[in-house]
Amino acid sequence: MTGRWAPSPTGEFHLGNLRTGLLAWLFARSCDTKFLWRFEDLDGAVRSEFYDLQLRDFQSIGLDWDDSVVRQSERIALYQDAIEDLKQRSLTYRCWCTRREILEAAAAPHSHLPEGAYSGKCARLTAKQIADYERTGRDPALRVITESQIIQIQDRQLGAFEGAVDDFVLCRGDSTPSYNLAVVIDDAEMGITEVVRGDDLLPTTPRQVYLFELLGLRSPTYAHVPLVLNESGDRLAKRDGAVTLKDRLTLGESELDVLNHLLASLGMSNVDSFQELRDTAQVFDPSNLPTSAWVFDL
Ligand code: GLU
Repeated sequence: MTGRWAPSPTGEFHLGNLRTGLLAWLFARSCDTKFLWRFEDLDGAVRSEFYDLQLRDFQSIGLDWDDSVVRQSERIALYQDAIEDLKQRSLTYRCWCTRREILEAAAAPHSHLPEGAYSGKCARLTAKQIADYERTGRDPALRVITESQIIQIQDRQLGAFEGAVDDFVLCRGDSTPSYNLAVVIDDAEMGITEVVRGDDLLPTTPRQVYLFELLGLRSPTYAHVPLVLNESGDRLAKRDGAVTLKDRLTLGESELDVLNHLLASLGMSNVDSFQELRDTAQVFDPSNLPTSAWVFDL
């Protein structure tokens, strides 16, 4: 068994991120599961100082990981191989649609597309239309051809979930592999058997399961956990106040206090030391976790 934590180094962690990381760690450490760290750093918003900061914050609240830290930015060849494989199998097409066109198509009256899903428009272009787009000099994205079906997945926390699989992007116009492609290749290559992550990623999970199958790879099990919300019910963000570890330390709390806030939010007992956290992990039972979001009101 192998689990993982796959943050994007685009900012300092807030308590919501740390709580999801703690959960992924608890799932792994409660069984004999290896726990790996992967930086999802293909995004343009990545900043170099956040790699170390994120690792340090994670360690400061008593959490650890196995093996060397993986960075997606060092594995581009792996993603390109997979994209090439799908191209060779004639399972891709180029797409020139803008983000706005895609959103408008999904929002049009009588559209049956789920929010953000792609209509398949560029799969139906004539040779003349393709030539016209090529002349614009705009770089197209690459999409995978799917049958636009609904796929059901079994989530360990949320049960059955059905989601649409559209012709999603494999590679962006600027040649960056997409999140859905990179995550599947990495989870397979790193031997991940258990994914624990925020439930904002649940809607795209059927796409990933579809891609695992298309590439002849075994998909992991999934456990999506509720995000942390602010008092207005929106997803917690840095602007909501003292929400980072550094903020809490400045207020006079200790790292252990912060860990205990997170444990309390999970309905778990406080610990007196990081060593005790290890013992707590042994008896962690995901079926006792709260099923609704934690509203941050410390
Ligand atoms: N990198 C994603 C994030 O920071 C997580 C992706 C995943 O766990 O699959 O939200």
